[in-house]
Amino acid sequence: MISRRSFVATTTAAGLSAGHVRHASSAPRPRTQTLADRFDPWIEIDPSALRYNVEVVSRLTGNRPILAVVKNNAYGLGLETVAPILAEWPEIAGFAVVKVDAAFALRDAGIAKPVLLMGMFPPSAGADLVARRISLSLYTDDAGARLDALRATSPVHGHVYLDSGMSRMGMPYHRAGPLLRTLGARPDVVLDGVYMAFTEESDFDPEQLRRFREVADAARRDGVTLGTLHAASSNGVYHLPDAHLDMVRPGIALYGAYPSRPNEERAKAELRPAFRLRARVVRIERLRPGDTVSYGRRYTAERPTWIATIPVGHADGYPRGAVNGARVLINGRLFPVIGAVSASHTIVEVGDERQVSVGDEVTLVGFDHPDLHPNEVARATGASVYDILMHLNPALPKVVLPS
Ligand SMILES: *Cc1c(COP(=O)(O)O)cnc(C)c1O
Repeated sequence: MISRRSFVATTTAAGLSAGHVRHASSAPRPRTQTLADRFDPWIEIDPSALRYNVEVVSRLTGNRPILAVVKNNAYGLGLETVAPILAEWPEIAGFAVVKVDAAFALRDAGIAKPVLLMGMFPPSAGADLVARRISLSLYTDDAGARLDALRATSPVHGHVYLDSGMSRMGMPYHRAGPLLRTLGARPDVVLDGVYMAFTEESDFDPEQLRRFREVADAARRDGVTLGTLHAASSNGVYHLPDAHLDMVRPGIALYGAYPSRPNEERAKAELRPAFRLRARVVRIERLRPGDTVSYGRRYTAERPTWIATIPVGHADGYPRGAVNGARVLINGRLFPVIGAVSASHTIVEVGDERQVSVGDEVTLVGFDHPDLHPNEVARATGASVYDILMHLNPALPKVVLPS
């Protein structure tokens, strides 16, 4: 068994030599720093963990096709980094995003697989969306008129979004029949699918599924070709086998975090975090008894102790609640966050011995240790695990580890 220390060292060394950095903007700029001695935070992506999680989702769903949700910058991991990796694999049937820019960004990144825009399409972008073969979500009473206004020269691909009880997006199921029949009758519209989202309330989810099925069955009896029925997010992948339907639509599980009940889900099928948030120590200092730490002085040294400063803060996406019990890994050891997480800095208590130096690598979230698992960081900080991923600042550079 390799020690934690050597595991960290080897994967890091490999990542820094083989990895490449992607910046949020591709504008040319002078290279002012390399990852080999970078202090500022970065994110490492582990393609083998992504691969593993895709296989887990496939196994849990009887090999259903996966519509990979990559909204919000692929949950903070980097749309342009993650989507091309996922797109290589046959299990991935396509991608789903909420924002128009993300749909275009997928095509700009060379993704040829189907893309579903789960948000609304603006009239001005509609023709471009159609030209770039992006499937539109159709759910408004005036969906037909909105399609007419696009004056598309090729058939429009769309999924009808049904609201089966979420009251967030979609056409309410109880009056969706006419929309499905109207769209189904149009020669210039190809219905690729019909979908819904669960409230993820276990008592109500089956009722939502029943409503969804009833509407879909009625439309099919009327001769409407509905395409692929899909409903299950990561929660449904784990807990609602009846909802796996023709395709599943997970996000967070692909990235290695458990959606709802981590202990139960881990026992059912373990996932591997597909990223880690890293930086290097920028300061190590010894406190005297009575010295206090950071804004609000929430920490007071009772005896002499070493502290280290890490240049990662809440503006990078590291949760403010980390002071409530999160720890970070440096040189194979865990150190507790103290004082306050400010915009760009986090401080940890190192203890009696000066066992950390400026330049030492830090992992704040990731796969290096069970305490750094996103679900564990979420638990320790009182945050939602979705925030641990999705609040990662999109400007953080991404390094792809060798698979
Ligand atoms: C975000 C989202 C998903 C994926 O949810 P996870 O819980 O991350 O798996 C699926 N469907 C819709 C409509 C979503 O908005």
